[in-house]
Amino acid sequence: MPASAPKCPICGKPTEPAAKPFCSKRCADVDLHRWLSGAYAVPASTDDEDEAPDFDEAPPSARSR
Ligand SMILES: [Zn+2]
Repeated sequence: MPASAPKCPICGKPTEPAAKPFCSKRCADVDLHRWLSGAYAVPASTDDEDEAPDFDEAPPSARSR
């Protein structure tokens, strides 16, 4: 196999095309959980709800400021 083959950042196994950049759905899930818990480690303060009226429906372009 090519030396430049991407490896799963979670367990280090060769990446599967179906689950890249991970080796499996499981590792993708693990990474997703890590990412989410990191990004949303702080408990959401529902007090500031009115600052993000359409947060869920905001298009990707509106979030890249
Ligand atoms: Zn893996």
